[in-house]
Amino acid sequence: MTASRAARGRRAAAQAGPLAKVTVDVDAADQLVYKIACTECTVRDGRAWSAYRPGADNGFMAAMDRWTFHLSEKHPGSDAPCLEFLPAAQQRLHERREGGTPEGS
Ligand SMILES: [Zn+2]
Repeated sequence: MTASRAARGRRAAAQAGPLAKVTVDVDAADQLVYKIACTECTVRDGRAWSAYRPGADNGFMAAMDRWTFHLSEKHPGSDAPCLEFLPAAQQRLHERREGGTPEGS
């Protein structure tokens, strides 16, 4: 379990690029939770900007999409592999808005 969590973390970190700080946690319901924090940006109360999404593969995808949008907005010149998938992330966002699975339950 620990090893696969670490492997998931490494995979996400590799894709998120050098500005990201990725952690993979397990929540109270024994579900994986992906957190991707920005090492440069802080939000209003001084904490790091971060995307936090539960779910093994869904969480990975959702957190990575959110991070990809953050990068493209705030750090467009960043050298992150996930930026390659920006069009796919936008497509998914579009489908979620159009297609009816409610966001963020
Ligand atoms: Zn940032």
